[in-house]
Amino acid sequence: MINYKTIMKEAGLKFTRPRSLVLTALQKANEPLSIKEIYKRVPNRIDLASIYRTIHCFLELGIVREVPLGEGYQRYELVGEGKHYHYVLCVECGKLEDIDICLLEQVEKMTNYKILSHSMEFQGICHRCTG
Ligand SMILES: [Zn+2]
Ligand SMILES: [Zn+2]
Repeated sequence: MINYKTIMKEAGLKFTRPRSLVLTALQKANEPLSIKEIYKRVPNRIDLASIYRTIHCFLELGIVREVPLGEGYQRYELVGEGKHYHYVLCVECGKLEDIDICLLEQVEKMTNYKILSHSMEFQGICHRCTG
């Protein structure tokens, strides 16, 4: 388990209530969430602006990553330990599925780069929507 409290403490940040609630929302989600979706999942005393600030802080700490799905807004997920997923989005119904494939290691081997970040997300039309 990643100890987020310690990560924030080491960065000189407090483990505030908004931070803890946004973390919980992301931990409970089984797909990347937009700011609005996070907003819907935290108690209503936390406003959109503080969710934006919190996510920005998490991005800087490297505990959250952006998942660009071409929807016109960003989604976010916890970076986690080890395994991560990529996604395919149905542009008709918004269904999101994770895909268990990643080219990170191949790209490192091909280029000899130490890859620091990457994204590989897909947009398409799902079975139900084509049928
Ligand atoms: Zn669909
Ligand atoms: Zn990957």
